Amino acid sequence: MVDPPSLPTNVTPLDAKIRERIKADGPIAVSEFMEIALSDPDRGYYQTRDPLGQDGDFVTSPEISQVFGEIIGLWCAITWQNAGAPEDIHLVELGPGRGTLMADILRTVQNVMPAFAEALNVHLVETGTVLRQQQQETLNANQVTWHDRFETIPSGPILIVANEFFDALPIKQYKMTDRGWQERQITIDQKQGNLIFTTGDSLINKNMAIPNELRTAPLNSLFERSIIGEKIASSIAERIATEGGAALIIDYGHVRPGLGDTLQAVKSHKYHDPLAAIGEADLTAHVDFAALGEAAKTAGAMVYGPIFQGEFLVCLGIEQRTAALAAAATDDQADILKSGSRRLIAADGMGTLFKVMAITSVTDSLPAGFENDDIGDAL
Ligand code: SAH
Repeated sequence: MVDPPSLPTNVTPLDAKIRERIKADGPIAVSEFMEIALSDPDRGYYQTRDPLGQDGDFVTSPEISQVFGEIIGLWCAITWQNAGAPEDIHLVELGPGRGTLMADILRTVQNVMPAFAEALNVHLVETGTVLRQQQQETLNANQVTWHDRFETIPSGPILIVANEFFDALPIKQYKMTDRGWQERQITIDQKQGNLIFTTGDSLINKNMAIPNELRTAPLNSLFERSIIGEKIASSIAERIATEGGAALIIDYGHVRPGLGDTLQAVKSHKYHDPLAAIGEADLTAHVDFAALGEAAKTAGAMVYGPIFQGEFLVCLGIEQRTAALAAAATDDQADILKSGSRRLIAADGMGTLFKVMAITSVTDSLPAGFENDDIGDAL
């Protein structure tokens, strides 16, 4: 390609790295861009910081209320019991953030089902160095093993929890152009020197990437796919199908495959240009639950849901638990507990944007909370 203009001032080190890569090898896929921005070993967003909380960039359900983790802990305990209470079981969290969810789960199971707490081996799949340290602090009294990847968890029955993990995985984007579907890429604008979106030269193999019902989409439509997310869903499902256990995936996203650009950047609780402040802003995309579910079924497991987060939490008793905690708390604490739970279940909060999907082995009974798993025409 022609030499682009010199580097604009105030770009981040990762921005500079991406430009070097583009200059050397040409435009990069959106997935490659996300991979570098989020997981570059030296400067990736999740490598270098704890992004959670009021002083960070975003807040997640476990950081909003302890009741979230308590309900998930209860779900794990019921699922363990329904699976015949194996004496040894791995409890795995993917992308555990500050360790808050796991701490709330472990406290709950120690209270409600000590025999389950005894049976547990806790594993955290986390790539971020700063977050690993934070997790160690949060969980200091508990024996925990860290992993870079799900695949290194030792064999045996397994319970897996993933809250806002899949939305942080790289996606590919495909655009309908007048030449058909093409992969969306990032390149350097020859005039301004900015990073901009472009489309690849070669037409992608549409049989591979685009679901049947979306193949004839209008011009400029975007379709997204997380190949890595589907691979992880497939590994989880294969493991559950062969060795027993279950997974609970909680995230924001859509139930059916759809068109649209959901790549978004957030910094200090505000939306941001995804191509700016690279490595210093969070990058996420909506989770395609249909694709994860298909991957899990193909690998031999059962899939339940996704259902609305609000419905799941209410079914497992969030309102009763909140009322019990509030009754024993000061007025101020009670208000915080009630507004936290409301935010988690309300349609104008996280109750319907966030969905919950369970993966089990085909021989297991219906997982708790999924008694009515038909989200129907609500979406
Ligand atoms: N589950 C937590 C944090 C969500 S943020 C919560 O609900 O608060 C996303 C988490 O996934 C972070 O812990 C991040 O470091 C981790 N993560 C992102 N990409 C990852 C990857 N490829 N492998 C393992 N962990 C990853």
